[in-house]
Amino acid sequence: MLGSMMRNALLVSDLVVHAGKYHTDTEIVSRETSGELNVTNWGEVAEASRKLASALDTLGLQEGDRIATLAWNNHRHLKIWFAVSGSGKVCHTLNPRLAPQQFIFICNDAADKAIFFDKTFMPLITGTRDHLKTIKHFVFMGPRDEEVVAAIPDVIFFDELIEKGDVDYTWPQFNEESPCSLCYTSGTTGNPKGVLYSNRSTMIHTFAISLPDALSLSSAEVILPVVPMFHANAWGIPYAAAMTGAKLVMPGSMLDGDSLLGLIDDQKVTLALGVPTIWMMLLAAAEKCGSKMQTLRRNVIGGSAAAPSMIATFRDKYDCDTIHAWGMTETSPLGTANRPKGKHADLDADAMGLLRLGQGRPPFGIDLRIVDDAGSPLPHDGKAEGALQCRGHWVVDTYFGQETSTMTEDGWFDTGDVSTIDADGFMVIRDRTKDIIKSGGEWISSVDLEGIAVAHPGIAMAAAIGAAHPKWDERPIIIAVPAEGAAPSEADIIALYDGKVASWQVPDAVVFTDEIPLNATGKMLKNKLRDKFANILIERGI
Ligand code: ADP
Repeated sequence: MLGSMMRNALLVSDLVVHAGKYHTDTEIVSRETSGELNVTNWGEVAEASRKLASALDTLGLQEGDRIATLAWNNHRHLKIWFAVSGSGKVCHTLNPRLAPQQFIFICNDAADKAIFFDKTFMPLITGTRDHLKTIKHFVFMGPRDEEVVAAIPDVIFFDELIEKGDVDYTWPQFNEESPCSLCYTSGTTGNPKGVLYSNRSTMIHTFAISLPDALSLSSAEVILPVVPMFHANAWGIPYAAAMTGAKLVMPGSMLDGDSLLGLIDDQKVTLALGVPTIWMMLLAAAEKCGSKMQTLRRNVIGGSAAAPSMIATFRDKYDCDTIHAWGMTETSPLGTANRPKGKHADLDADAMGLLRLGQGRPPFGIDLRIVDDAGSPLPHDGKAEGALQCRGHWVVDTYFGQETSTMTEDGWFDTGDVSTIDADGFMVIRDRTKDIIKSGGEWISSVDLEGIAVAHPGIAMAAAIGAAHPKWDERPIIIAVPAEGAAPSEADIIALYDGKVASWQVPDAVVFTDEIPLNATGKMLKNKLRDKFANILIERGI
């Protein structure tokens, strides 16, 4: 033998072992469902995870079993994650915002054996229980509560279960290819599909997202994951916080702007992550009360495109550097993050501002390409637009329970997005394939049109969709929600496009509405808008 290196399986349990040992007293602050704050630390989380893991074994749960959670971001949820994955089981995070029918479908499809739930979701549990065919154990995430017993007589209480756990439990060693967690896509069209992450893919993703050119995490950070743990694993933050020993601040059920602002200021949050709709509420709250969010140095915006005006507000008003990131449930989720390279240091403010608008470039471990309709690769010149495909260590191969791989013949995953990529790897999402507006055979990016509309102070939210047109097939229209107390006119909004897009891309109409429907992960449901407004131009006789 020439020599060798130690060979340890990459297991999720290693993360909590490390955090518990080397970041013992680093705080984990979380909002209880009752509203008050709970303060614990990585040492206690590590101990409780071991106790809970041993208690799961005594319930008869076995390696590979799926254990569901229906929960907010809080300390109990964190302990469940490590206990379930660390003991070789699969942590299946459920999205409580799904319709009950989809919720039932997902639980049965995953064949979940147990479910942990926060008090908020009791009605969903009692209302669907008769249809949940495989769940044997219902665990309430809290102390004993007689109201819960009355509704679910055979309920188990998390706090009592942990009490019975063995503090000397040792984490089992197993194959790093074994699954550790399961997350379903939100299924805007069709039934949701499950993505089964392995210990190995999760660990490599955790290393990658922590790097300086990705989210740049360290033990000096105080991280607020507003993105829920049921939305693509809170973008991997609970794992990465354990790996780097960061302090975590978990917002529980209170996701309104004032509550988040209170947490940021009181807990001295340095980095927060969430989808654009969350930031709109936070910025409105900060504006109202005059907070400068002084400790918040960076925020990560993903899930949908961040409007240029939002990135500029964070930069200019709050001295907060927005990292615009792109990813999918199928990519664990981080695919790209927008961090400038060394060679960009001398860019002037305008050029730097422009560079930072896109979704950024892939970290090591993800490869990207764009292809045309025939599947042939297009140049990375920042101009050619094509179907975005990716491959890498943490990208889905086969969906849960399916026989065939999702991969193209040459090993790529088709994302359903349309983008450009430049020579440095900076990727810009132009649209989702199904949302792009096709006017007379030419493509118009709905993302661009929305970014321009929401820059108007009188607009709170805007969606650009294609409406049927007798001559051009489709023409762009804007569906807009006015900001509180504002009443912009259709002409005001149309005028915004002058000089910003080609004249044939200017929307033909603006329709004001009170509300734009959102999906379970906070994205605008444009298919619902298309159903409602598809014929508006024809009706108006345009
Ligand atoms: P779902 O498809 O279930 O809504 P995902 O959260 O996995 O859930 O959605 C992934 C999709 O979200 C991507 O394919 C892309 O269309 C969109 N997306 C994610 N991040 C961004 C971003 N920064 N800019 C534009 N679109 C984004």
